[in-house]
Amino acid sequence: MAKIISGKEVSAKVREQVKTECDELKSKGINPGLAVIIVGDDPASRVYVNNKKKACADVGFVSEEYALPAETTQEQLLALVEELNNKPDINGILCQLPLPGHLDETAVINAISPLKDVDAFHPSNVGKIMIGDYDFLPCTPAGVMEMIHNEGIEVNGKNCVVIGRSNIVGKPMAMLLLHENGTVTICHSRTKNLKEICARADILVAAVGKPKFVTADMVKEGAVVLDVGINRDENGKLCGDVDFESVEPKASYITPVPGGVGPMTIAMLMKNTLKAAKIQNGII
Ligand code: NAD
Repeated sequence: MAKIISGKEVSAKVREQVKTECDELKSKGINPGLAVIIVGDDPASRVYVNNKKKACADVGFVSEEYALPAETTQEQLLALVEELNNKPDINGILCQLPLPGHLDETAVINAISPLKDVDAFHPSNVGKIMIGDYDFLPCTPAGVMEMIHNEGIEVNGKNCVVIGRSNIVGKPMAMLLLHENGTVTICHSRTKNLKEICARADILVAAVGKPKFVTADMVKEGAVVLDVGINRDENGKLCGDVDFESVEPKASYITPVPGGVGPMTIAMLMKNTLKAAKIQNGII
């Protein structure tokens, strides 16, 4: 039987800490602010943006929503980013992805000031993560690390396997485990012997985007299993990349979906926004 790591509980702790520090900033006249840009009317993006705005209100941040129509041009979007880059009461800027197909996501990410890039997607912040000298960590991998730390799980010297090599999850996840002295293997769609590699992992992170992809035969007895995936199963029910029912009895720790890594991502966004406000006000 694994211990189930509750993302709801760990994220609540993080948000509580952010709220306390936000109150301290407010007492010094600093009101942290996050701008959220959403283009078009993708329903999933709308849910994510609403959740982010609610999280801001809960910790005491100001949040500004910029909802642009789907037909917004690249020039209009870049002009808004530039305006927000120069807006002193906005500390963090987030552009909800994916953008409608005619817009260039990379150009938008590159246009956000690295100092306000609370998603940590800008190449300058990505490079800093590689070196290990960073201001912001990408929210989802940082959330996974927060769960690991909260349980007191040691990464040092452990075999860590990350399935998935995306720029927003897999690659930075591997880097964060490496920074803590894990021996890290990154697996992807071309990996051979995936099952054998995963079955050697002391710490296994799944960021594939395929429902119940990780089965019990891919998991070592006593492994720590962290499930980043957010998918729908054959009945339309929310599920992760890990086949929870078969894997849970073998693992020592496991994160559920929903209620696992998902809530951590928004909590870490709040943490990054707080840090941005501190940096921009010369507090750190
Ligand atoms: P992505 O599609 O960009 O990357 C998926 C990765 O999985 C790729 O690197 C690919 O090589 C690998 N992959 C695909 N098929 C594979 C196979 N058969 N064997 C091994 N590797 C394979 O996805 P992403 O953006 O990294 O997201 C991954 C999952 O995490 C999705 O379900 C997504 O919804 C979820 N996600 C959750 C959060 C959160 O807050 N919890 C945040 C971001 C993404």
